[in-house]
Amino acid sequence: MSSLSLEVDNRVRDSTHDPTLRSWIESANSSTDFPVQNLPLGVFRVAEEAGRVGVAIGDSILDLSAAIARGLWASAGGDIAHAVRQPSLNALMTLGGDARRAIRHAASDLLRHDTETGRRARAQSAGLVYAAGEVTMLRPVAVGDYTDFYASVHHATNVGRMMRPDNPLLPNYKWIPIGYHGRASSIVVSGTPVRRPRGQTKDEGAAAPTVRPSRRLDYEAEVGFYVGKANVLGEPVGIADAPAHIFGICLLNDWSARDIQAWEYQPLGPFLAKSFATTVSPWVVTMEALEPFRTSVSPRPAGDPEPLPYLADAGDQRTGAVDLTIEVLLQSAKMREVGIAPVRLSCGNARDLYWTPAQLLAHHTSAGCNLGPGDLLGSGTVSGPERESRGCLLELTWRGTEPVELPTGETRRFLEDGDEVIMRGQCAADGAVAIGCGECRGVILPAIRGAC
Ligand code: CA
Repeated sequence: MSSLSLEVDNRVRDSTHDPTLRSWIESANSSTDFPVQNLPLGVFRVAEEAGRVGVAIGDSILDLSAAIARGLWASAGGDIAHAVRQPSLNALMTLGGDARRAIRHAASDLLRHDTETGRRARAQSAGLVYAAGEVTMLRPVAVGDYTDFYASVHHATNVGRMMRPDNPLLPNYKWIPIGYHGRASSIVVSGTPVRRPRGQTKDEGAAAPTVRPSRRLDYEAEVGFYVGKANVLGEPVGIADAPAHIFGICLLNDWSARDIQAWEYQPLGPFLAKSFATTVSPWVVTMEALEPFRTSVSPRPAGDPEPLPYLADAGDQRTGAVDLTIEVLLQSAKMREVGIAPVRLSCGNARDLYWTPAQLLAHHTSAGCNLGPGDLLGSGTVSGPERESRGCLLELTWRGTEPVELPTGETRRFLEDGDEVIMRGQCAADGAVAIGCGECRGVILPAIRGAC
């Protein structure tokens, strides 16, 4: 490791990242997405009570408002005490990065097995810590605006190749982060069933389109970035300042109806093919938790242009990528019926994205667009160079021409009713305890019967 990266590591890591830390919640100490070094934030509900903010720890959830009420976090300000009683993370996001870091340190102190606060918390864990199975996870953020990018050059190249074998990438791709404005109202939390959309599609050679349930329903495995800090309308965020505007990440499934998309997308891009549902994981892994897993951006291949100055920053190139593997699994209704576990379809890594989160955010604001707390940026499908790292069925089955076989003997070109898609994300690095994002899952319901 170079002296430069050591310096960076020393700057960003603190006592909460110490790999020797253990929790008095035993399930947090081995094989879990949520060791005491992670401490992601989410919103949960117990029975019919109001939603409130929790921290995932092993197979349990720490109730932050209960911790404050019991005097286990004596220094918590009134603004934080108020924010953690809300049914979304938005109020907390508005308080800024210092509040987020204060929660991380307080939760670490409270959940460690070797601190005075930890011992007190353990002695009164009833009503302070809930088993994950006892609670309902809610959509963590009331998303104001949602933008989806197209940051994987491997995904863009594969999709382009299907349409333009000799010239897969459009000339703008390596200069400008491509994105479109998505729909915030249909963002749902993991576990929410997804209704197969109906829409206008036009078969090849047909004289006119028809309206019917999508026959080419797909998922897209993505990472989502929540904005924490706002920027003022008309005032772009510089690339070096962009990381401070990101609150944390989630897993995101950008469900896509390829047949509807193919007919509607020209000339303004995706519309109803995407807006029927987007699923997010319930836990938001903070930027602080990700610090040990920030990594350098892969060098651009020879001949690629350098990023333009407003997208170029040495620090971002050094540590701006996130080493996050995203695994996609599928379980058909038949597999569920006969007790076969979900089967892995692919595994990609967000490290392979062509653009960093900071570049996406800086570009988004570069013309003056204001982003606010709770806005969501999707990375675009995370695909890598190998077949097994393709993050959607369109690529994996090459537009349906190379079907995937399931353990039951069933095959899939695209998703069938009853299929459940499950995404899992994990970060691992030398000298750090591995962390995960939890699951992002959704099962496909049959389309509603339509009149036409
Ligand atoms: Ca997408």
